[in-house]
Amino acid sequence: MNSANPTTETTHYDVCIIGGGAAGMMAAGRAVERGLSVCILEKNDQLGKKLLITGGGRCNITNAEYDTHAFLSKLGKTGHFLHSTFAQFDVKSTFAFFESKGLELKIEEFKRAFPADDKSASVLRVLELRLRKVAIRTSAQVTGFIAEKKSAANTDAKSDAKKEREPGTITGARLKNGEVVRASHFILATGGTSHPETGSTGDAYAWLKEIGHTVIIPEPSLVPIAIRDPWVKELQGITLSSAKLTVFQENKKQLTKKGRLLFTHFGISGPTVINMSRDVGELLKWGEVDIEVDLLPDKDYAMLNAMLQELFDKNKNKLFKNCITEIIPGKTASVVTRLAGINPDTAINSITREERLKLVETIKHMKMKVENLLGPDASIVTSGGVACEEVDFKTMRSRLYPNLLFTGDVLNIERPSGGYSLQICWSTGWVAGSAIEVPEVE
Ligand SMILES: Cc1cc2nc3c(=O)[nH]c(=O)nc-3n(C[C@H](O)[C@H](O)[C@H](O)COP(=O)(O)OP(=O)(O)OC[C@H]3O[C@@H](n4cnc5c(N)ncnc54)[C@H](O)[C@@H]3O)c2cc1C
Repeated sequence: MNSANPTTETTHYDVCIIGGGAAGMMAAGRAVERGLSVCILEKNDQLGKKLLITGGGRCNITNAEYDTHAFLSKLGKTGHFLHSTFAQFDVKSTFAFFESKGLELKIEEFKRAFPADDKSASVLRVLELRLRKVAIRTSAQVTGFIAEKKSAANTDAKSDAKKEREPGTITGARLKNGEVVRASHFILATGGTSHPETGSTGDAYAWLKEIGHTVIIPEPSLVPIAIRDPWVKELQGITLSSAKLTVFQENKKQLTKKGRLLFTHFGISGPTVINMSRDVGELLKWGEVDIEVDLLPDKDYAMLNAMLQELFDKNKNKLFKNCITEIIPGKTASVVTRLAGINPDTAINSITREERLKLVETIKHMKMKVENLLGPDASIVTSGGVACEEVDFKTMRSRLYPNLLFTGDVLNIERPSGGYSLQICWSTGWVAGSAIEVPEVE
């Protein structure tokens, strides 16, 4: 999708949408089809980066719980806020919306709905097709709002307090390059803080606090990780000073970190693991997660193979178990030997080429399955964002700045896994795009 002409600097839009994720695109499509002039400011070079990785690339688009009360009861303490939003756009509306655009949906276990072709890219295509008349500005990072409070007639303390309570107005969004984008309404759709590489870095929290909104910051889930594979427990107490950990979901690489790894009686810990636990927790919401350990990340396949060959050549008459420890220390060596399917009592001169290559493979890819995260977040529900009390959910308008509207993950709504999160994006996005009056043509 092309960026709009930079001369849009001078354009005044009816609606400026900040963030081109699921919620922002839904709101933009709805607003533009009602005849409003709309721009999207997106800091990535493309829209919907996070949407593409949802549901392991299959996009669990909603949860086919058609009873709104039952659906909202899954959203914990925050569910009740959304009744008036869902009265306008509920789960059935989501099915009708996507199916009317030619996207067939299917329902799987636990009422999780997916596009029939299992492709999140198909969902993105539907949303993007509605945006032909929207001025899309990618690589446009917003750094803050320009906000005004109504001026009071006099400035004594009493009137200052009253002024604080009076609704304000957002008059502009400031971009990183210093430019200011003006609009009559601003829809904030900058998402939350999970998977920051997709652009959701919680930028808006600081601007919102600056203008007087309450933002709830979720406790970061920095915890050790429980592992299913019994071999991990055999290594309890062992620390590897420099291991590489790669996280996979449905065989797709999700993230990699290198550093200290500690094996414990329940699984893995240490700073590297703890720092990746939040992302692992996010992924667990959508399915199984595997972690692969590379025991010798500084040696590539060829180097490691050559190293083993040299070691074996020098120790032809030794037993494998007495030789491998020169490369892999003690207990870890016996686990690696077993996983590689090598008899530890084999004489080195009997080790075949295939066995050596299998050993290289094992050292580089020690696979383990994540059981769960340890700690209070084991239930894997995310929240955090703008306090619901400060939002009018009939319109998604801020109660403090009525020309500012909120959609999607930027709101502090508790979201379990199973398609709930995206449904909130569709409902809030649709309602925000519907709430802004179309200006009368003079
Ligand atoms: C791995 C993973 C899998 C998931 N799978 C599912 C699933 O299958 N089903 C489900 O219901 N939910 C799923 N979710 C949750 C779902 O992805 C989110 O609820 C949804 O994407 C939120 O949409 P959003 O539009 O609110 O925010 P985002 O999708 O986060 O979009 C926000 C956009 O705002 C942009 N932005 C941020 N700051 C700025 C700025 N300063 N200036 C300009 N632009 C900015 C970002 O670049 C981003 O494009 C998953 C989440 C993760 C992490």
